[in-house]
Amino acid sequence: MGKVLLVILDGLGDRPVDGKTPLSEAKTPNMNKLSKMGINGIMDTISPGIRPGSDTGHLSLLGYDPYKYYTGRGPIEAAGAGVDVKPGDVAFRVNFGTVEGEGSIFDKVVVDRRAGRISDTDELEKAINEGVDLSELNVEFVFRRGSGHRGALVLRGEKLSDKISDTDPHKVGEKVKRCVPLDDSEEAKRTAEIVNRFMELSHEILEKHPLNEERAKKGLPKANALLLRGVGKCPHIPSFEEMHGMKLAVIAGTTLIKGIGKLLRGYVPDVEGATGSKNTNLENKVKAALEALKENDFVLLHIKATDELSHDGNFEGKKEFIEKVDKHIEPLLKLDFRDVCLILTADHSTPVSVREHTGDPVPVVIVHDGVRVDEVKEFSELEAWKGGLCRIRGIDLFRIALDLVDRMEKFGA
Ligand code: ZN
Ligand code: ZN
Repeated sequence: MGKVLLVILDGLGDRPVDGKTPLSEAKTPNMNKLSKMGINGIMDTISPGIRPGSDTGHLSLLGYDPYKYYTGRGPIEAAGAGVDVKPGDVAFRVNFGTVEGEGSIFDKVVVDRRAGRISDTDELEKAINEGVDLSELNVEFVFRRGSGHRGALVLRGEKLSDKISDTDPHKVGEKVKRCVPLDDSEEAKRTAEIVNRFMELSHEILEKHPLNEERAKKGLPKANALLLRGVGKCPHIPSFEEMHGMKLAVIAGTTLIKGIGKLLRGYVPDVEGATGSKNTNLENKVKAALEALKENDFVLLHIKATDELSHDGNFEGKKEFIEKVDKHIEPLLKLDFRDVCLILTADHSTPVSVREHTGDPVPVVIVHDGVRVDEVKEFSELEAWKGGLCRIRGIDLFRIALDLVDRMEKFGA
C-alpha cells in the first residue's frame, strides 16, 4: 500500500479578469511539470456551486462529510489552540476586545474588537483560568489564548447546548451582547446563563489586571473583555485512523487547519516559522511534510497565504506568492511515485475580484505511477478542465487517491 501527500493552496482558484488569473499568469515551472506528469481536472470541494469554508472544505478533502461532522468553528479553533476538545464540549472563538462605559459588561460599548492587536496575553489567560469560578453553575471551562488577540473558550459539563447567541457584537460602537438561548430547551437557557456569568467574571478580572493598568498608562487599549462567537458543540467525530485506517499528519501554520488535524487525532507538529501568512517558512513546511511522510500514510500540507491575499483583493501579491510556492515545492518532484500519490489542489476558490470564497471549481492534478497522463501542460484553473479527471468532488478525489495507493476495498464480489 502506498501513501498520499495532499498539497492544498488555500483559496487558490480564481475568476478570470480579462482572461487572466493569478495562477494562469504566475510563472510556475514546477507545478506545470506536475501537470505534465499527472492526470488533471477541476474539483468542487463539497459540491458544485457550494461555497466552502476552509474548515468544511478540508473535512471534505479528508473524506468526512461536512454536513454530518461540521458543527461550527469553535471546537476546531479550540483544538487548534491546544485544548483537548471532547465530544459534548461547547466551544467558542474568542477575541480580546476593549470596552468602555459604566455599569455591567453588557452596558459597555466595544471600542476595539482586537484590543489594539494585543499579543502578550499569557498572563491574562492565566488570570482568567485561575480567577473565574463557575463551579456553582456545575460546569468546567478552559480558556486558551491563541495567536495575537485571539483565543478559545471551552465549556465542559452536563446539559450544554450550542443553540445560543454570540456576545461579540461584531461591530465597534455597539454594546457587548448578552448571550440568549436560540431555542426553548433547558440546555440552551442554562448555557446562556453560564456564558453571561463568564462574561461578567472575566471582565472584572481583566478590567483591574495589572497588565491592563499598565496598558492604560501607556495609552494602549485595555484588553478588558472577551468577545465570544462561532459557538459549536463538539461532535462524536471518528479519528482519521478509525475512519480510514490510515495515519494522518497535518503540516499547517493556521490554528484552524491544525485544529482539524487535532480533532481527527492526527500528528500536527509545530513547524518553525510556519505562520499561515505570506512570510511563512515554506522550506521548513515542505521538509516537515516529507519527514511526516515517513511515519504517516496521509500527509496534508496546507499553505494559507493564497487565500489571505485573495481576501485583500491583491492580484499581484497572490501571483507572486504562487511563484514562491512553486520554487519551494521542487523537492516534491523527486518523490517516488510508485509509492507516493502526490496531489496539488485547493480547498476552494477565493477570486481576488470577489474577495470571498466562491463556488468556482479549483484545479487539481494527481501524480502517481500508472495514472493516465493527459495532455494538460499547465497547472491552471483555465487549463485543468481539459484533463482526464474532468470534474470531480472532494470526496471523489479522496477515494481516487486511496484507490491509486491500493487502499480501497472492492465493492461487491
Ligand atoms: Zn480555505
Ligand atoms: Zn478565506
